[in-house]
Amino acid sequence: MIANYGYKDGSGDFFIAIDTDKCNGCGACVPACPGSVLDVGEDPNDPMREEPVSFVRDEQRKKLKYACAPCKPDHDRPRLPCVKACEGLAIEHSW
Ligand code: SF4
Ligand code: SF4
Repeated sequence: MIANYGYKDGSGDFFIAIDTDKCNGCGACVPACPGSVLDVGEDPNDPMREEPVSFVRDEQRKKLKYACAPCKPDHDRPRLPCVKACEGLAIEHSW
């Protein structure tokens, strides 16, 4: 499934989508993220899932525009640290 974390406001949509079918819980995205946005553990949307999965930390979900801003000076999405770290291509950003 696609787990969407984020929000929209007057300036745009700020969502990170984690494809939990592609995420294998490897954890590579966590240390790659300078904003401490991502974590890996129990699936917050599927408590029955046994494997760990990546998710956006609860405290970051309402401020992604700002948390991710240092990575996005040029909106060059394929070069985002989290996207580059994920070999499974499980992470997408809406902005
Ligand atoms: S790097 Fe990709 S596959 Fe690994 S935990 Fe993060 S989202 Fe999942
Ligand atoms: S864009 Fe940067 S701060 Fe945002 S989740 Fe990816 S690596 Fe972390």
